[in-house]
Amino acid sequence: MAGPSIGTWVKVRNKSGRMTAKVLAKKYGGGSYQQGEVITQSEYRSFQKKRAEAIADSEPRPSPGNAVQSDKKASQPKSNSRKDVDDWMTSNESPPKLLKLKTTNKPEKLTSVNYRGYQIYYPPTSKGRENAAFAINALATGNFPEKLTKSTKRIVFTDQPNKKDEYWAKKYNRPNFKSQATGGDGIVHVYNGGRIPKSTMAHEMGHNVAQSLWGSFHPPESSRYGQAQKKEPPVSKYGASAPGEDFAEAVKLYAVGGETRKAFRLEFPLKYQAVQELLE
Ligand SMILES: [Zn+2]
Repeated sequence: MAGPSIGTWVKVRNKSGRMTAKVLAKKYGGGSYQQGEVITQSEYRSFQKKRAEAIADSEPRPSPGNAVQSDKKASQPKSNSRKDVDDWMTSNESPPKLLKLKTTNKPEKLTSVNYRGYQIYYPPTSKGRENAAFAINALATGNFPEKLTKSTKRIVFTDQPNKKDEYWAKKYNRPNFKSQATGGDGIVHVYNGGRIPKSTMAHEMGHNVAQSLWGSFHPPESSRYGQAQKKEPPVSKYGASAPGEDFAEAVKLYAVGGETRKAFRLEFPLKYQAVQELLE
């Protein structure tokens, strides 16, 4: 089973002691961060550097940038710095429109930008923009396989909950279940005014890959991944909740790259091969 070393939420504190960010992280060079652990910005920078090195070490893969840079109409921020992303969003976003999403209950005013072929919708508020900028950064630096990114066309941020939360609460027997994000129909929805880290983005895109391949989140028994599921256990605790979740979790472990991907390859060789065959 994938243990806690795969990744965990930590908080980053800046010099003045103010909490600045919550990141999904793994301690490089031994050990794991504890859930919710507070680390300093310099620890976080060293983690980022080591992670970038680990990802650079793994086999080269096309990034979403490489995949769609041929789209000449699509402009993009000058750099991934917060200021350049903000400036670019401000000058490229469409006027807000009242939209009724399939996955929420009430119509909602959303604006959007087109980033490298992804239409990204968000509430026209500073928090909405911040969440969208965070996703843009995840897409810019995710280095996801092209076949993973192709299956997703839209990323939608909403301040509302997923209208199916109650259903999942019963199904998973978790009374307070709240969806952070969902995939499906080539869309990634992000709920409750929240953010989506790279790893969750990859997971939800994994559902879109499954749907475009098989018309269902659930890998068919005849597929290579379906066969691997008979021989190897779920790749994570959440993956144990449903075969489709196991597949999305496997896609996540693969797409995150670096040491996470290496651990996935070692622990679940059949699933790794099946995912590699689908994404490369
Ligand atoms: Zn899922």
